[in-house]
Amino acid sequence: ELANRMAERVGDVIKSLMNNGVMATQNQSIDADTAELIIEEFGHRVTRVSDADVEQVIEQTEDKPEDLQPRPPVITIMGHVDHGKTSLLDAIRKTKVVAGEAGGITQHIGAYQVTTEGGTTLSFLDTPGHAAFTSMRSRGAQVTDIVVLVVAADDAVMPQTVEAIAHAKAAKVPMIVAINKIDKPEANPTKVRTDLLQHEVVVEQMSGDVQDVEVSAQTGQGLDELLEAIALQAEILELKANPNRPAQGAVIEAKLDVGRGPVATVLVQNGTLKQGDIFVVGEQYGKVRAMENDQGKRVKEAGPSVPVEVLGINGTPEAGDVLNVVETEAQAREIAEYRQQAAKDKRAAAGAATTLEQLMQKAKDDENVSELPILVKADVQGSAEAIVQAMEKIGNDEVRVRVLHYGVGAITETDVGLAEASGAPIMGFNVRANAPARNSANQKGVEIRYYSVIYDLVDDVKAAASGLLSNEV
Ligand code: GDP
Repeated sequence: ELANRMAERVGDVIKSLMNNGVMATQNQSIDADTAELIIEEFGHRVTRVSDADVEQVIEQTEDKPEDLQPRPPVITIMGHVDHGKTSLLDAIRKTKVVAGEAGGITQHIGAYQVTTEGGTTLSFLDTPGHAAFTSMRSRGAQVTDIVVLVVAADDAVMPQTVEAIAHAKAAKVPMIVAINKIDKPEANPTKVRTDLLQHEVVVEQMSGDVQDVEVSAQTGQGLDELLEAIALQAEILELKANPNRPAQGAVIEAKLDVGRGPVATVLVQNGTLKQGDIFVVGEQYGKVRAMENDQGKRVKEAGPSVPVEVLGINGTPEAGDVLNVVETEAQAREIAEYRQQAAKDKRAAAGAATTLEQLMQKAKDDENVSELPILVKADVQGSAEAIVQAMEKIGNDEVRVRVLHYGVGAITETDVGLAEASGAPIMGFNVRANAPARNSANQKGVEIRYYSVIYDLVDDVKAAASGLLSNEV
């Protein structure tokens, strides 16, 4: 490979390596420093890959409007534990996956597609829960177009419901409310709707614009209506992609399979992924050896919003990693290696913290940054609300404070996850972070600030907003 790139003979390169004390065969890898030495010996110039090169290789050209075609929406189901996320995903899959297709064994690949009565195709992420959503977002992969918020009619709005709302709002993803377990005698959908009002989710039944559908994952009641509601929301969004370009996608799930090696479920976001394509995915690279769809069938291509299981990766990527098709294997490897090194460097330079100061600096550096995102946790509802109200008043033409989420109680890992995904600090008022949250915040470099006087908190944020924050905490 090295000989090839220098347009020198392989034998000469090996000889030169030997002269330098490296006994290498033709297919052996050598480290970058050795390569550099050899290259210079041959009188060639060394250029190491940089971020700019990566960007250049991964062509990010805008698609022309005439090249864009409608694509299916991608849906994530969120909600409180036991409210029926898994049951709903299963029920939708069972009733809607085309029956009768020979060998149509649905397999769990982390996402699946269904077609509604009206003929709209929908892609569901089959990984319920908020962790997946946040970790994807924090890795830069925004794959979800629509969030279905499941609320059990016998339990109404619970803490994780509130979290889910915060996540959807932070990601600016539209929501549809599925009021589940409507079959239960004690079901009280009205309570769900009024509870939601308190969290600024106004459903259609309450004259708002968030669609709400009563469903039962158990009896199947309302499932068709739910799917049509999603289809309608998708129509409003006018989702489009260009199937005729090299693919870009996001990893939904990845694992090391004993028999097949690294396997990743990739949701194609733009372009079409084809068998034989060479790609880089996060810190890994590969060539599509084979692809299987959600029905376990071999496919040769996958277009926008289609989930496929991909074989042929050299290592196991992580959920949320972005996949890009590139032209040559050398490019793919170069980018992957560059990213591995960059990740190593980043881990070494401990704590890329999200502090108020850094946010302000970012706001200064980037003229488009006009929002100062923060999370607020307080001991009682009254203080939380007072703080949020005060926050809303801060700001001027350039900077505005955006409270992504506020709540009552200790600062938890979930708060840290949300803060990291949105690059926000957490402001604790008369509350502390629990141990897992503290560890997680340290690891992820999320700043947690503690206050016992509202005035101090407001003052700090105000100062940050006007770029006058002093350095001491
Ligand atoms: P998740 O934690 O949100 O994924 O919730 P699950 O899907 O695991 O459901 C929790 C429990 O509620 C299970 O025992 C389900 O059988 C039950 N459940 C889910 N949906 C319904 C429903 O529509 N009606 C009734 N009666 N029970 C349901």
